[in-house]
Amino acid sequence: MKAICVYCGTNNSFNLAYLPIAQAVGQFLARHHIRLIYGGGTTGIAGALADAMLQYGGKVTGIIPNFLLDTEKGHNQINELIVVKSMHERKTKMFEMADGFIALPGGMGTLEELCEMLTWAHLGLHQKPIGLLNVHGFYDKLLDFLDHAVNQGFYKAEHRAMLIHDTHIESLYEKMLLYAPSRKTRIIKDKKST
Ligand code: AMP
Repeated sequence: MKAICVYCGTNNSFNLAYLPIAQAVGQFLARHHIRLIYGGGTTGIAGALADAMLQYGGKVTGIIPNFLLDTEKGHNQINELIVVKSMHERKTKMFEMADGFIALPGGMGTLEELCEMLTWAHLGLHQKPIGLLNVHGFYDKLLDFLDHAVNQGFYKAEHRAMLIHDTHIESLYEKMLLYAPSRKTRIIKDKKST
């Protein structure tokens, strides 16, 4: 994989016990020459991750909507900061530029982005691997919930299996490399092309 999009929290008040994850992931991606695609800010664990990438000589592309430049404090040290007009444009660009996705601990924004990539995979809209880095048991309850949804018949087991998870970045990445999607990418023709 040449580029991985990492979704994670931008809230500055996060528990600092999670800070070493940003370091570990930044170091790992930089050492493997994998470009980081992320939201482009300096705040929260996301900002710490971008800083770690730079510290270890990694390449970073940030994608930020102009209305968030102040709140998330656009990072001016990264290799490329792409300013877009909307959240939709941000997410589309992040999706297009990445060969895979990893979610670190975060809040609703992180969850939303993770769920969108997962549901697109369920629909066969892409075949890129999606990894959840479950450090300090942060996502245990989410994983339990997904199992519960499968047990209650609301979520297909084959879709549940699409969410790769691990407690360490090295083993998570190994699993992502082995990911073999069970369905083919759906070809979508827009009205003009039909
Ligand atoms: P959070 O996990 O809430 O700290 O947010 C992480 C990132 O997700 C931030 O860069 C937010 O700007 C972004 N975000 C928040 N809501 C959304 C959304 N609906 N779609 C895409 N990104 C979002």
